[in-house]
Parts: sequence; C-alpha cells; structure tokens
Amino acid sequence: MSDIYTRRCKGCGASVSFDPTAEKLKCPFCGAEEEIPLSYEGITEIDLNTALQTAIQQKTTLSTHQILSCESCGAQIAYKEARATCDFCGAEAVSQKSLQEQPIKPQGVLPFGISPEEARKAFDLWVKSLWFAPSDLRRQSRIEELRGVYLPSWTFDAHVWAHWTATPGYYRTRTESYYDQASKSWRTRSVQYIEWASPVSGHHQDFYDDVLVSGLNSLPTRYLQGIGEFATTTDLRAYEAAYFLGWDVALPDKPLPDAWQEGHQQIVSLTEAACKRAVPGDTHRDFRMQLQLSGLTTKLIYLPIYILAYRYGGKPYRVVIHGRTGVVSGDRPISWLKVLLAVLLAIAVVGILVYFSGK
Ligand SMILES: [Zn+2]
Ligand SMILES: [Zn+2]
Repeated sequence: MSDIYTRRCKGCGASVSFDPTAEKLKCPFCGAEEEIPLSYEGITEIDLNTALQTAIQQKTTLSTHQILSCESCGAQIAYKEARATCDFCGAEAVSQKSLQEQPIKPQGVLPFGISPEEARKAFDLWVKSLWFAPSDLRRQSRIEELRGVYLPSWTFDAHVWAHWTATPGYYRTRTESYYDQASKSWRTRSVQYIEWASPVSGHHQDFYDDVLVSGLNSLPTRYLQGIGEFATTTDLRAYEAAYFLGWDVALPDKPLPDAWQEGHQQIVSLTEAACKRAVPGDTHRDFRMQLQLSGLTTKLIYLPIYILAYRYGGKPYRVVIHGRTGVVSGDRPISWLKVLLAVLLAIAVVGILVYFSGK
C-alpha cells in the first residue's frame, strides 16, 4: 500500500506503529503517541456496474516495495518482519519479491482494536477448550506464530425485492385400521402424513448493507463469517495508511467479478432463507423465487484479523481471530491417537462396571 512507509517518532526517531489499544500511533521505545486524524470522508460506495464494466480501479502509488509471496497459495503480503512461512497457509514456500503491480486503492479500513497479547490470550483459551486437539497445537511456541494482518475484503450493498410461491404442508396424524397377521385380528395405529394446502405467494423486500467477501483467494470468506460481524457500517474509517504502520497487509488477489459472484450467491441465499421463513405451515414444496436487485454498490476495505496457519498431517489448517472482538474460529484437527485412547478408556470403564455389577 502505497504508503506502507515508515514514520519516525518525533521524540527519538524510531519507527512508530499503530497501537490498537490507544488507537494512535505509538513509539515502542519512548512511548510517544501521535493522533491519527479521524476521518469518515472518502468511504465511498462505488456503483457496482460501473466498477465491473470499467474494471479499472484507482491504484495506489507504490514505487518499490518488497513483499512476501507464497508459492503455495499465492498470497502476497506486505510485511512487518520477514519470515519463513506464509501467514495464510503455513507453507514454507515464501520468497521476497518486489511488487509487480500496484494494489487497488481501498475505500476504508477497520483498524485493529485488540493487542497481540489479548489475541494470544483468546487463542490460548480456545485451544484449551478443544477436545482431541493434537498436543502440537497447544505448544507455547504456536502462540508466538499468531500474526496480525489486515485482510482485503470486498463489500456489497443491495436492495432486494423478491416474489415467491410455494405449496405449504401441514403435519397431520390419522388413525388407521390394519389387519395384524400375528394376532389374526384388526387393530388401529397412528400414522403421520403431510396435508398439502393450496399454493401461496408473497414478497419480501430488504436492504443488505456490506455483505462481505474475502479479497484474498487463500482465505475463503467462511473464515470471516466464522468470527462474527465486522461493524463496517458504523466503525469503518476512511483509508489512511497510518493504520497499517507496524502490521502485515495482505494484497487483494480476488478480482471484483469473482468476488461479486460470491457476494451475489450470499444475497440470494439470505433472501431465499427469509422468503422460506415466511411460508406458512410446517413444511413446503415447489418453492420458487424471482429476485430483483437494485442499488448495487461495492467497495474495497481492510479488516483486522489475527491468523495462525499451520500444517498438520500435511494439510493446512487455520485459526482466525477477530481483530476487534477477539472471537476465535478455525479448523480443528483431531488427534486420532487421543480419540483412540479415549475409546479404549471408555471400554475399560464399561468393562469394570460390568464386572462389578455381575458380582
Ligand atoms: Zn520515540
Ligand atoms: Zn500461502
């Protein structure tokens, strides 16, 4: 990002970082603080069709900048410290490169709100709560590998108008007689069935504000959805490079048309779910929906996350922590050795109980 530059402390000349607790620039050596002018101006929503047609976005101006490039997942990271593994997939196939293409200029940034220490505490609690997690994951050194990184993300706004039709069904029970071969007599039993009513229709109107799609191919959107909402509609700031000082920044590699395909799918699913909730009855069939979208806009923003990517049994796993709320979510590898031991223990306990109860 253009301006991932270094800013010097006015007091002692060391490089300053953005401090999430103080929400200011802070010098790690002398503790001097510097305000970042708070601005909400410039958080512009861009008309989606214009953005898709022109496919030209304003680029940041970055002359020379070294980035970490992952050969395995393709992630490109403007980094704070060089390292041997990729933030997003844990592969050791990273190399330093100079940036080939200027990154797209973002419209907004949601700054970090919790410190790395707070994120480590949240991670530690999460790992301890896991059953059957491999011991390797609990190693203290793992926690040190947690990285704070700004993740590029596309947002989409849309007004939806949907018309739906469906045939509602009601669960009923009736009593029927049957001939019982065993007792050679007529008996009754209760049978469940669905009574289908006449088709009904309705419409649903809604406005979706900031539907999020990850702007990085290596980190699927579901990881973002796993850690809860990002308050982009209220807490987003106008893009200001000072927020990136001292943090890793992933460069967007998912083009807008691909991101919109995902965003559109999210909007369709949300609308479909809302319409289905409006269908009367216990169940339904022949659900159809016609959807009209209008007022579509998009923007590119940066979201704060802490991430730990690691490999277990040759597969990549990721744990992601919300950079403002500390909510943790991630892949949970299972140690089959621990599962096996637990099963053997259970069998032993049952065996002992049976033995003693038989006495
Ligand atoms: Zn200083
Ligand atoms: Zn990678």
